[in-house]
Amino acid sequence: MTTVPPEDAKSRQQAPAIVCYNVESVPRRNEAFIEAWRAELSVVDTVIVKPRDASTFRVPAGYGFRILSVEGSQVGDLNLWNANNLSERFFSGKTRQLHASHVTRGDRLWTNIPNMRPMATITYDSLEWYGWDEDGGGVHDVIGTRCDPYTNHVLNGVDYHHCCHSNLTRAMAEELNLPAVEVEHHIHDVLNVFMCTGFTLDTHQYFMKASPVRPGDYIEFLADIELLGALSACPGGNCGSSHSDDETPCYPLHVEILKPSDDALAQFHEESLSAYDRTHGLI
Ligand SMILES: [Zn+2]
Repeated sequence: MTTVPPEDAKSRQQAPAIVCYNVESVPRRNEAFIEAWRAELSVVDTVIVKPRDASTFRVPAGYGFRILSVEGSQVGDLNLWNANNLSERFFSGKTRQLHASHVTRGDRLWTNIPNMRPMATITYDSLEWYGWDEDGGGVHDVIGTRCDPYTNHVLNGVDYHHCCHSNLTRAMAEELNLPAVEVEHHIHDVLNVFMCTGFTLDTHQYFMKASPVRPGDYIEFLADIELLGALSACPGGNCGSSHSDDETPCYPLHVEILKPSDDALAQFHEESLSAYDRTHGLI
């Protein structure tokens, strides 16, 4: 049954929008440090992520990593964990609230409660120019979860095994040398790297459009803590048409592991766990 608007409906709707969190209070990495850290990065390893598949990678604290588009326009789904404690992992929801629905240079990826600390800082984004398009879309979202076989089964009634959720699960099963069912719970909401998304302006539904990423583009991160990462090359390719099937052309992604200079590493400090006392008001 539809509702009848109250007489003051308009004025209630016209209450001012207030940004929930004081962004000025979010701790940032010092810009001069980032500049010095970036000045002498050397690539110490390159991990190849095959199309419709995922790979894991490790990054020491203070090192960095780049996710690169190669061969063709391709979207990636990224999971990150504290390499020494897999229960501490990327918290896309709070990252969204602290920064925005899409992240770029200077923004940080935060870990889940009760850890609640930056785990990676975005130090470069070749798609920073994209900003917000006329549909309200942006790049690198933290609003989508990841394509998964369960949702696909609900909507299409078929089993598809190369959704990002399954790709990440297989990669973690190999990394931890455990069966898929024992590692699946580690997979969490992703950073949708290179993906162009938003909410439709009229119905507020999640939309995707062809990613603006091209070979040579990359997003670069500083590891604020020691990281285990997993990246899936989404079966949706550039996510300009469909996903959760084998219809769209897909391309590999590369992950470069970056070592800074010894001087930059000496200046680096690892981020600390939340200092909240965790009593929640109980004595
Ligand atoms: Zn996907």
